[in-house]
This record gives sequence, structure tokens and C-alpha cells, in this order.
Amino acid sequence: MKLLSLALSASLLAAGAFAAFKPVGCWFGSCGTSALAQPVQAMTPTPPTPSTPADSKPDASMPTTATKPSAPVYSKSLYDITPLPKSRIDELAKKLTKEEAEVILSKGTERPFCGTLLDNKKQGTYVCRLCGLPLFASDSKFDSGTGWPSFFKPFDPAHVATRRDTSHGMIRTEINCARCDGHLGHVFEDGPPPTGLRFCLNSASLDFVEKGQPMPEASRPVAAATAYFAGGCFWGVEDRFQQLPGVIDAVSGYMGGRIKNPTYKQVCSEGTGHAETVKVTFDPARISYDQLLGAFFKFHDPTQLNRQGPDIGDQYRSAIFTDNEDQAKAARAFIENQQATERFRNRRIVTQIVPASQAGAFWMAEEYHQDYHLKNGGHCPMPGDG
Ligand SMILES: [Zn+2]
Repeated sequence: MKLLSLALSASLLAAGAFAAFKPVGCWFGSCGTSALAQPVQAMTPTPPTPSTPADSKPDASMPTTATKPSAPVYSKSLYDITPLPKSRIDELAKKLTKEEAEVILSKGTERPFCGTLLDNKKQGTYVCRLCGLPLFASDSKFDSGTGWPSFFKPFDPAHVATRRDTSHGMIRTEINCARCDGHLGHVFEDGPPPTGLRFCLNSASLDFVEKGQPMPEASRPVAAATAYFAGGCFWGVEDRFQQLPGVIDAVSGYMGGRIKNPTYKQVCSEGTGHAETVKVTFDPARISYDQLLGAFFKFHDPTQLNRQGPDIGDQYRSAIFTDNEDQAKAARAFIENQQATERFRNRRIVTQIVPASQAGAFWMAEEYHQDYHLKNGGHCPMPGDG
């Protein structure tokens, strides 16, 4: 159970003191003939790259710094927020107007009271103009009086990255799209309850999708799927699945037994029939069910009946609880193929394949079983590994 979460407030506190109580805008000019204010002299436009400007210190909570570039990253609201490569950003940037590019790629700022979304009172979602990631929702928009669209919280904290901005002789916190690193504006600590935050946006950085309208593909969450695997001690199985690129979440629990909401003690000592099971939520666009099956057979020994190494009892049995008929077919075919391989030449695979609809509910295990190896280190020995 390890989904990305960001402590935005904590990162803001770490970013430094906010000297002015009076709302500070992103810019100081007034509305003129141009749609955009010209950058002040001291402001050197940065090249259109997602890299960190020399005068900015990346915030520790930024997903771009916490994750390997190649590893997919998902938010709690199930969006793929893997940082986009420069080549993709360059491709997307071709659709931007000159004014939009100035704001999004070169950290420009619209003049106050000039943005097209300032007075938008419609219900809907504000998405990144460059990559489409949902950034803010209409239910957190408020009139700050500053002249820029203002919100008191993001759509999902993981979708908006922050970094320290010391330009213009001020210490501010810049906000960027977590996926494409496009500049959005700044966030200040003088917003309304419940967060006390004011996200000050440039309209040019946003697109608006009205409620009831279809979301563009780039603005939709991942079409996540679910799979269930029982292969001995769930601490190790959960830990291994969690590390696979494309696995969004892995949770330890109990499945296939006779009572509701069992405790670990009941499963171990009262013969409830549950197997220690890991519920895997995955992104089929990144990892297939067949790849999960292949990993599962590496994570445990499917020839051990009602045990796994030193752990003995039917709660440690090898089982696949299938979420639909396609998974059942894939699991049967996979085991048939595996049985014919050299690895299992003289050993019978005893893995059960049971429809999840027959196995009953998946019951999440107690909190201390979740992310056990992540929190406590070590790893369970796995006979099938290596
Ligand atoms: Zn974006």
C-alpha cells in the first residue's frame, strides 16, 4: 500500500517565510493592451525544459525528484503522473500560442484581471493546458480579489508540484504541473479555510472542462484493473508486487475463507479457510495480467501444497483469485504452459484458480501488515525466487 502522497503544507513551510499578509499577486502591473505582461528585466526566460532553474531549489516533496524517470508514478486519484520526457513536452508545446508558451514554458505571468478563466463560475475541472492533467476543481475556486484565478486546494495534492522561487527579490513558492512541469503560478499562505492556501493561477496555464462534457483522453484517470494472488506470507508478496513498474498499489489481506472481516489471529489459529492474499491494482497499459502471473511464479513456489517454505497451513496456500473470465482463462493457460517447462518437469503445480466471486470478499489485513518490509526492512525468503 504505497500510493504517492505529498505534504503540500509542510513543503510550503519549508519554502520560507511569507512576509506580506496582504494578498500578493503573481505580478505587479496593471491591465494593458497586451494579453501578457512583459517579464521584468531581471527575469531571464528559461528554455522550454522541465529541468530546475539555477536559482530555484527543488522542493523535497516534488515527485520529479523522488522517482526514477522511467518508473511510472500514480496519484491517489489514479492518474499516471509519470514525469514526461523533454521530447514529449516539446511535441505538446507545438499547440501553444506564443502567450501560452511564455507563461507555461518561460514562467511568465498574465496581467491581473486579464485571464480568460478569472470570472469563470461554471462547474467543472481545470486541467493543464500543456498535458491535460486535472489540476483544480471548480468547488475550490474562490474570488481572491487579486485578479488571477484562485483556488484553495488542488484537484489532487500530487498533481501540483512546488519549488522555491527567489526571483524578483521575493521568496515565493512556484507551482508546476507534476506531470509536464509546466509553470502554473504561485501558492501563498493567505487563502481561506479549510487550507489557508491560495493557489494563484495563470489562465493561460489551464484548460477548462465543464461538468457533463467528456474529459479529453489525457485528462482521464488510468483504467486500473485488479488481481488477487496468494503465495505464502503476504509481507513478501506485497513487497515484490509493489515494486513492479505499472503496479499502482498492492495491499495485504485475506480471501477465500468462511467468515467476514477475519483477524490475523483467527486466520492463523481458527481454520477460517482464508489465504493470505495480496490485492494488486495495476495499470494494464503498463503491465499485463500475464506479466503479473509470471512475476507471481517467481515470487513463490507454486508446487508446495498448503505451505510456503517454513510457513505451514492452508492460509499459505498458492492461489489465484480471478476477477473475471479473461483472467481465469489467462491463469489456466499460464499454468498449463508453466507445467510443460523444464522448471516444473517433475513437480506438479498446485496453485488453485478460483473466481473471486466464489472466493468471497477480500478483507484488508491489519495496518501493521501493510507495507511491512517498507516500514521494517528485510524481506521474506522465497523459495521460488532466483
Ligand atoms: Zn501538465
